[in-house]
Amino acid sequence: MMSSPTQLLILRELKCPVCLEYMTPPITQCATGHNICTICRLRMKHCPTCKNQLPWIRNFTLENLAQAIEYPCVNKMAGCTQSFPLYSIKKHEAQCPYRYHACPYNKISKEDCDWSGPLVEMKTHVKEMHDSPGDNVELTGPLRTVLRNISEISSFRQVMFTLNEIFYIIWELRGNTFYCAAFHVGQKENSCKFKYRFRISKKKGGESISYCLKTHSFMDDVDGVIEGGECVAIHYNCVQKFIKNSVLPFEIQIFNNDLNKHERNEIYFISGDCNESYDNDAGVNGITDEVDSN
Ligand SMILES: [Zn+2]
Ligand SMILES: [Zn+2]
Ligand SMILES: [Zn+2]
Ligand SMILES: [Zn+2]
Repeated sequence: MMSSPTQLLILRELKCPVCLEYMTPPITQCATGHNICTICRLRMKHCPTCKNQLPWIRNFTLENLAQAIEYPCVNKMAGCTQSFPLYSIKKHEAQCPYRYHACPYNKISKEDCDWSGPLVEMKTHVKEMHDSPGDNVELTGPLRTVLRNISEISSFRQVMFTLNEIFYIIWELRGNTFYCAAFHVGQKENSCKFKYRFRISKKKGGESISYCLKTHSFMDDVDGVIEGGECVAIHYNCVQKFIKNSVLPFEIQIFNNDLNKHERNEIYFISGDCNESYDNDAGVNGITDEVDSN
């Protein structure tokens, strides 16, 4: 069906004469029979082809034909060659590798960056344009750093290059809960292929809290992830035990998610007294008292 002569013929009929986009149902026509897309219809008083009045007449025949063909992806000009029926094209376009995305630094830093482009070019852009010290770090092992002066008005963002991919980590305090999440700059379907291990500890062999969770996609809404509790969420009273001289040392590592071995998200506490307050207030399930093997 994909580029059969019939398909091309119907697509030609579906091109709106005003915006030149392919029309999707509902499709309306003028009294003479010229078609126009719904968006342009709302802006026009007269038919752009014959200047007749535009009553609200639907073209059901063309609508039915539209349901029977495959539309080219909206990113065709950018290089996508795929076509889909109407019921599934939106799903593809949201995930299309040729789709343009804004620079992730708009989300993770205070700077405004005008760049937008496909995912395949994003890494080069970030490396070349956001390379000031501290902006991003290239790692083969865990990121070990410290957070200073944690408060509700400060949030922390860090870009990490690891495993040949871009990730960014956010930390913030909301109310009495400390949150941390890792986002993969990539297709949603690929984000579950990575996990992050978050760990705060007093000193070697001392109390520690460690989480092991799946990364999110940078297309996910940060607030949604935090409010949905799908990330590290620790009662601040508990975090405070690990803060010394206003500094919280912690460690985070991204690794490949072995789908056979690591299906569960894991949370470990190696301390007796964190469990109670945490259990009551943050409401996260799956707390275990096992010792983190790493
Ligand atoms: Zn139009
Ligand atoms: Zn007309
Ligand atoms: Zn596409
Ligand atoms: Zn940028």
